[in-house]
Amino acid sequence: MPTFEEQLAALRWQKFPVLDDGFVCLVDVMGDDNAIVQAARVSYGEGTKRVSDDRTLIRYLLRHWHTTPFEMVELKFLVRVPMDCWRQWIRHRTASVNEYSTRYSVAIEEMQETASEEWRLQDSGNRQGSSGYLPADLGTQLTEEEHHFQKQARQLYQARLEAGVAREQARKDLPLSTYTEAYWKIDLHNLLHFLRLRMDSHAQKEIRDYSTTIGEQILKPLYPVVWEAFEDYRLHALQLTRLETETIGRLAATGTPAPWGEEAFLAAQPSSWKDLTRSRERDECREKLRSLGLVTRD
Ligand SMILES: Cc1cc2nc3c(=O)[nH]c(=O)nc-3n(C[C@H](O)[C@H](O)[C@H](O)COP(=O)(O)OP(=O)(O)OC[C@H]3O[C@@H](n4cnc5c(N)ncnc54)[C@H](O)[C@@H]3O)c2cc1C
Repeated sequence: MPTFEEQLAALRWQKFPVLDDGFVCLVDVMGDDNAIVQAARVSYGEGTKRVSDDRTLIRYLLRHWHTTPFEMVELKFLVRVPMDCWRQWIRHRTASVNEYSTRYSVAIEEMQETASEEWRLQDSGNRQGSSGYLPADLGTQLTEEEHHFQKQARQLYQARLEAGVAREQARKDLPLSTYTEAYWKIDLHNLLHFLRLRMDSHAQKEIRDYSTTIGEQILKPLYPVVWEAFEDYRLHALQLTRLETETIGRLAATGTPAPWGEEAFLAAQPSSWKDLTRSRERDECREKLRSLGLVTRD
């Protein structure tokens, strides 16, 4: 198995492509798995060495939300992202950012183009989501229109610059699909938080592509023990609310073996949901119990 230094040498400055012209690139790192372990042992003392190997300790820390040892590791990336996606990314306030300035320099020419088969339909249930794709012929038309629009927007921008308009003002009508670049530095604790939110199926596909690339292509080989624990205790973990565990308790108390049907589920739901025709919380609960095989999908 390659050492941390070997993995780092292979990963640094490698541009992992995302979307049609974006990338993520690892620039620098401070600390390996050992930095986390070392910090944790300051609080627990050398004695932990006897009862807990490094892997077990890292898994314990993550499972029990003992998060500060993970802040001892820092990672710096160079990223190239369309501005609409960057707008979501930049909401994560715990990173240090230095972004390409379109006041100082001419805006990056490339804009993110959507391929004809990649136009997503508005989800009927989730107002923030998408599901399925538009038909191919309509997709082709939308892609052509987008190409035309982006070209015109760029020409207008160039014409303003040539007329002497300041770069800070000339940029105002550039589309959000315009790429930007930034250095993004964040500690491992907050990076895992970012990844948990942005690799989730509820996150927008574009930022999911970026976060998945960071997670799968960079963190996984560099911090295999942390990554394994992250997948086990965060990414693929399921959180149950009090109302949900009580619902399971009532279903179990019926004495009928699982999986339970919709009728049994509705009878066991909390009284506060019973009068509601539509309840997002009830839907979320049903989905969790279905994923566990406790409620049928009929
Ligand atoms: C699926 C999804 C949908 C979203 N929809 C919307 C939306 O419709 N509208 C919208 O505006 N945003 C939306 N967001 C953004 C979201 O509300 C958060 O702003 C974003 O995910 C950053 O999360 P964070 O604050 O936990 O992260 P960070 O800013 O990285 O902060 C990490 C943690 O540090 C702590 N922290 C950081 N700064 C402070 C502070 N000033 N005070 C107290 N604690 C702090 C908090 O514990 C926080 O969880 C959405 C996010 C997701 C994932």
